[in-house]
Parts: sequence; structure tokens; C-alpha cells
Amino acid sequence: MVIKYAYEEKQLSSDAIKMRDILAAYIAVVSRKLPDDVTKKLGELSKEEVDPLQQLVYNTMWENQLLAEELKRPSCQDTGALQFFIKCGAKFPLLSELNEILKEAVYQATQEAPLRHNAVQTFDEYNTGLNIGNGIPTVVTEIDGDGDGIEMYVYMAGGGCTLPGAAKVLMPGEGYEGVVRFVMDQMTSYGINACPPLLVGIGIATSVETAAMNSKLALMREVDSISPNENAAKMEQLLEDGINNIGLGPQGFGGKKSVMGVNIINTARHPSVIGVAINTGCWSHRRGKIIFDKELNYTLPLHKEVSL
Ligand code: SF4
Repeated sequence: MVIKYAYEEKQLSSDAIKMRDILAAYIAVVSRKLPDDVTKKLGELSKEEVDPLQQLVYNTMWENQLLAEELKRPSCQDTGALQFFIKCGAKFPLLSELNEILKEAVYQATQEAPLRHNAVQTFDEYNTGLNIGNGIPTVVTEIDGDGDGIEMYVYMAGGGCTLPGAAKVLMPGEGYEGVVRFVMDQMTSYGINACPPLLVGIGIATSVETAAMNSKLALMREVDSISPNENAAKMEQLLEDGINNIGLGPQGFGGKKSVMGVNIINTARHPSVIGVAINTGCWSHRRGKIIFDKELNYTLPLHKEVSL
């Protein structure tokens, strides 16, 4: 029996088609061009490695980036499962069409970029071939009651970089030391699988799903950004130093630096428990950000030199 994912294209308004086309073009850019903050950080880290093997790895990454742009092809074969983290004004004119716009933009980018087909229907175990499936693309939307524009992160969640992801509710009494133990256990066990140097996102909250969402949103924060909470910022630095000391190095070949950085997002918690989660981004941390106003004028704050 051939099972086919039933995706029905909907009739979009002309403005929705315009937004879809812009988004599809930007998704293709995200697939081949790293965001400005990641490019800058990789440049800094590469200068710290003095051994020929590590230099070779970084030189191969640069060559890979140049060829991706020249050939207009994704910079890694795994273009991930598409995820959108959105803040949308309640008065944004295309709010009611947003989900369809996103799905169609993913479908269009899959054909045009092109993107690898990464939507496998669980249990039925077939690839839809569309990068659209049940729950894919992931869309997380926060409504801004006063706004009339929309801003969104576009993220390509690859298999390898998703692998170290985990979440746990710590036993009462484990405290923030338990957070550090959890993170370091994950990094020493699985960090090497995620194509270092990594951006490590840590979420702290109450339950596994709240911590997990915080940890993913932490990956949307810019590399080199610092938590506004003084204690969280201190933990970011301590964890960065600790994970660097594991010595994973670029692509796990050993070296001075294992991470681009550690970002923590924390929200209030139940008094009895601390939920903690980890998500990692690889050296090819393909996340973008696009901000539209209500007229669909847009800016690309993480790809400043790109025009679509
Ligand atoms: S971890 Fe990143 S660079 Fe490595 S294969 Fe996956 S997406 Fe590509």
C-alpha cells in the first residue's frame, strides 16, 4: 500500500503569496549562508587553533561556505526539519493565513533551494518528500497584542545537532549543581555527535516541556549574547569554560574550543523543582531572522548583507 501525505494547497491572497515568496527565498539563503554572528565567531575560534589538523577543518568549513554560495547549494546536506519561532502582532494583516504561508514557503524552498526531504511520518515511516508532515514545519507563535508586524526566527534542526537534546526534572535538592551535572553529562556523552564547535542552549523552568522550549529559544539568541540575569550569565561562562575543557575541538578532532557559546533562558519555576533541558546547534547553525512590517517591507538582522 502506498501511503501519501495529504497536503492540500489552499488559495492564498496576493499579499500572502508575496510573503510566501519572500520567505521561500530567505529559507534558501539560510540553508547556504550562515548568520553573521556565527560566521564572526567561527572566524575568531579558528584563529585560536594552531595545529594543522584543526586549521584544516576550519579551512574546509570556509571553502564549504564559499562553494555553497557560488553553487547556490545548501552548506550541509542535512537541511534539517524546518522550525519557526514567531512573535506576531495581533493586527498583522496576514495572521489568519500565517500557517498556510509557512507551509507553502517550506514546500517552495524545498523545490527551489533545494532542501533535503526531512519529514518522515512517525510510525507510518515514510518520507512525505515535501518537508511538510504532521507537525512539520514546527510553528511556535507568541501574539503581541499591540503590534501590526511580525518577526520570526527560521531554524533548520539537523539530525546531528538535535541529537544531544535532552530534558529532565531534577530531584528536589539537586539545585543548580544538578543543572551543571546534567549539562556536562550530555556534553561529554553526545556533544561530539553534533559537529562542534557547538552553540549550547540551556533551558531552566519547571517541567520538561517548558525547559525544552527555553533551551531551543536559547539557540535563537545571538552567539556572544549574555543573559540579562547575573547568575545565569555567570553559569553561561562557567559552562562554556567547562565544555571547552572537554577538548572536543572543531568536528570533534580535538582542540582548544568546543563551543561557540552557551546561552541560558530561564523562566520562573515551581518551588519544589528545577526542570532543565539542553539543545545544541552545530557549527553550521542555520538560523535566520526576518522582520516584516504590515506592508511586508522586511529586514534581515542576522544576514545584513543579503538582499532577496
Ligand atoms: S550536525 Fe550540523 S553540520 Fe553536522 S551533519 Fe548535522 S546539520 Fe550538518
